[in-house]
Amino acid sequence: MQTPNPSAEQKRAEITQREPIAAIATPSGEGGIAVIRVSGRDSIALVQRIFSGADLTAKASHTIHYGCITRNERILDDVLVSLFRAPRSYTGEETVEISCHGGVINTQLVLEAVLHAGARAAEPGEFTQRAFLNGKIDLSQAEAVADLIHARSKKAAESSRQQLEGKLGDYVKVFRQQIIDATAMIELELDFIEEDVEFASRDDLRRLFTDLVSSIDQLLETYETGRIVKHGVRTVFAGAPNAGKSTLLNTLMGRERAIVSDIAGTTRDVIDADWSYDGLLFTLTDTAGLRVTDDAIEAEGVRRSRKAVAEADLVLFLSDLQNPDPQDAQVMAEIRAQWPEKPLLVVGTKADRKELLKQPAEAQARIRHDIEVSSLEGTGIDELKRMMKDAVLENRDIDTSGLLVTSSRHRDALEKTRRHVHTALKGLDTGLTGDLLSIDLRTALHELGTITGEITTEDLLDSIFSRFCIGK
Ligand code: GDP
Repeated sequence: MQTPNPSAEQKRAEITQREPIAAIATPSGEGGIAVIRVSGRDSIALVQRIFSGADLTAKASHTIHYGCITRNERILDDVLVSLFRAPRSYTGEETVEISCHGGVINTQLVLEAVLHAGARAAEPGEFTQRAFLNGKIDLSQAEAVADLIHARSKKAAESSRQQLEGKLGDYVKVFRQQIIDATAMIELELDFIEEDVEFASRDDLRRLFTDLVSSIDQLLETYETGRIVKHGVRTVFAGAPNAGKSTLLNTLMGRERAIVSDIAGTTRDVIDADWSYDGLLFTLTDTAGLRVTDDAIEAEGVRRSRKAVAEADLVLFLSDLQNPDPQDAQVMAEIRAQWPEKPLLVVGTKADRKELLKQPAEAQARIRHDIEVSSLEGTGIDELKRMMKDAVLENRDIDTSGLLVTSSRHRDALEKTRRHVHTALKGLDTGLTGDLLSIDLRTALHELGTITGEITTEDLLDSIFSRFCIGK
């Protein structure tokens, strides 16, 4: 069911104080302190019931108080309690944050005391969901909170910060206003249909729609970079067994990760490892190689390798400079033919042994290496890292100071918006009537509204907030 939500501004004025919920907001484990967050109606009075120290209910917002959390007249822990009165809190509701000593058991005991005092255990993402429902943040900002928490590289964190600050929402707001103004004028004309007046000059509308389409295109163009920044570059190491794939993967990562062995075909499964370079995340996948084989287990490895190559953002094809595999040229040609668009770097390995090349194989002569490296001696490795980054980003800059569209949900909504504005633009040329123009514009508005959450469905909210951890 679709529920149009009131605008964020409207909602800010009407914070709903829901039932109090509580959760541990810090990661589970041993640590100096842990924070338990309590939010909702009369949270301060609730915490007061298990707090010995000052009278919290009489204290001002944004103050911190020292005291003890007690249960059955026993002191559980000495804590610092931070008070946030509505609407000046993350959720917009009255909120208390209890900083207690860390440690799994201690933190759990304090949480249990809070639950016993009347709070309900929070669902994943429920605090952020309340912040959204209370108009403190829009939906794209709520999603950015999850992205920031899950960020695995510096660039990913920076780009979520931009979205968290509301940059995407700002763009959407401008687009919406322009479409609303145009729709209003077109619909006004409909009221005066007899008089045959034109409130909105067709030239002005044409200019407006053209500008909108190009602004949306500019945002959409950031998606490819945005996706890579958010999810990382899926990098597949392909090449014959013993080409040096596992060794190179370990060299890039600077630690032992994949199994390195002298027996051809040992890396039978696909191995994934996260590696960060220049703020960008690469997910390195070592494959079993892509050669023809009779061995059933190895054949399964080859099947998985092909799948990994198909899904990759970048393929490193490794060929042993000293002892090239006769199938190399053929396998590489196949990759090029099947995935012509895929960024591919041909890496000559074991450069330290190049001069030991006994029989310059014919296959070797047919391979043009983009770079030669030695994992053993470290030569060519820095250059390779730079080439890997350039290969996926081409000449694009990752400018995380601007907004990157990183979510396929946002991209889809922007594409649909663009399509409808574009249809309206074409409609102007074909003399489409105002009522039909207005249908396209209203659909475009609807699509924009799904980004920031003016338009939501239960399913959408569930799928977004279930990605969160408890306590967020
Ligand atoms: P994979 O089957 O493609 O993963 O190949 P491995 O990484 O397991 O390497 C196969 C063999 O080549 C191992 O004995 C490695 O020690 C050796 N090797 C890998 N890289 C280099 C290198 O740069 N120089 C030399 N001399 N040997 C290497």
